Amino acid sequence: MTSDRTSLLPSTLLIGDQRIGTASGGVLEHIHPASGKVQASLPLAGAAEIDQAVAAAQAALPIWRSWDPSERRRALIRLADLFRKHAEEISTIHSLETGMPFTQADWPTKWGIDWLEDAAGWADKLYGDTVPISSQGLFNYTSIEPFGVVATILTWNGSVGAFGMAAGPALAAGCTVVVKPSELSPFGPIRAAELALEAGFPPGVVNVVAGGPEAGEALVSHPGISKIAFTGGGPTAKRIAVSAAQNLTPSIFELGGKSASITFGDADLSAAVAHATFVSVHAGQQCTLGSRMFVHTSVFEEFNDRLASALEAMKVGLPFDEGSQMGPLINQAAMDRVHGLVDRARAYGEVRAGGTRLGGQLSDGYFFPPTLVSGVTNDSELARTEVFGPVLATIPFEDEDEAIAMANDSEFGLSGYIFSSDISRVHRVVPKLDTGNVGVNGAFVTAGPTLPFGGRKQSGYGKQGGLAGVMEFINTKTVTVKLGDPS
Ligand code: NAD
Repeated sequence: MTSDRTSLLPSTLLIGDQRIGTASGGVLEHIHPASGKVQASLPLAGAAEIDQAVAAAQAALPIWRSWDPSERRRALIRLADLFRKHAEEISTIHSLETGMPFTQADWPTKWGIDWLEDAAGWADKLYGDTVPISSQGLFNYTSIEPFGVVATILTWNGSVGAFGMAAGPALAAGCTVVVKPSELSPFGPIRAAELALEAGFPPGVVNVVAGGPEAGEALVSHPGISKIAFTGGGPTAKRIAVSAAQNLTPSIFELGGKSASITFGDADLSAAVAHATFVSVHAGQQCTLGSRMFVHTSVFEEFNDRLASALEAMKVGLPFDEGSQMGPLINQAAMDRVHGLVDRARAYGEVRAGGTRLGGQLSDGYFFPPTLVSGVTNDSELARTEVFGPVLATIPFEDEDEAIAMANDSEFGLSGYIFSSDISRVHRVVPKLDTGNVGVNGAFVTAGPTLPFGGRKQSGYGKQGGLAGVMEFINTKTVTVKLGDPS
């Protein structure tokens, strides 16, 4: 890493058109996950800056609402174009703040662009209905209105992609946003807000206040917030739900998972193994990771052998080294969690690849290799806990019903994966999986913004993506008009 790269990291918060250089929450010393060293500092928002940001968003709301929807569409497209223009810079910021290999860091940027453009398309295609009950002499219709000021709380692994995914639809619906990125990766969303100003968004429509749990708590309990869009962990979501209850603030919760991947005996094993190697993306710190892998006994050994070889061949490395296929975990706490889970799993499973923190030139960063633990049971700690790291566990099964029952025997319900060449089996199993999304034969469940995405059970509620995702930010008003008799 060179010092000129870190100069790309924004050093202020952005409220309205004010760059905030000192804030009441103190100072964040940001540690680069690949070096374990402080690479930048940033003011952290406290309650005072949250008040200021909500006030700015409230002031901007009537202005943004009054814009013709086609103008909002154009503004979102201009922002997407600026993401495109600054793609290399944004991707570099993402690599710096998360440790993701630079050669992969263009996908969160492209993802952000995609979500903003998709949201732009909806901005001028939202409308209400007319409702015919004319027999009662009434004319009825619904009109749509933006919810108001949205609190957008982000986890660290999405950065600008998550900004587009969470803020784009809200902005298209005419809402203004106060974005609180994770204190672990605050820089990408701040840069996105700077670009929103450049794209001609009125000041206050997009505000980004980096901060930790205190700032988050101040934001979600603020009476000026009309809707909360949260991405993160279940325990945090439950705290937010309690705070939100005080103002009855409606919320969307996009939470974690422990997704099942079922490989039947008739599956294309190459496709199943290739899909599993995507554990490298964000070092397995993905909500949708199919980390509970049910594999039919007839192919269990072969699958484990092939997957172990594929994982062992993967190059874990520094983010800006050419050839790096996987980066580090986000911080020491993640390392302790992941290492602890794998260490304890040695008592009941067989570690077939990885399993120990990496040393050598990677010893200063939080590098843990892609890991396979085979032969665990579905009631083991490793099968029940979201590792949020590069750890896959395989569990053998004998028949379809057993696989479905074990897949559903989880507190989570985010995603599911099926590998089978039998199309009838696929369509038999899909409706039986209690998850919000299912990927078949290697398809990604986060295929794009046109598809609704969200979880069930402890994986949350509410949708992002598609019309359903935009409608989360629309308040419908019902209007009933009594028609007079003809005179
Ligand atoms: P986290 O819950 O610790 O933090 C998420 C965000 O909440 C951060 O911005 C944090 O500062 C904020 N926060 C913390 N305490 C708060 C409080 N009391 N009030 C308000 N805000 C508060 O989660 P994390 O470690 O950043 O992310 C990991 C989790 O996110 C995993 O469970 C992962 O599966 C999940 N995730 C879900 C999705 C999805 O779309 N379903 C996407 C990515 C990650």
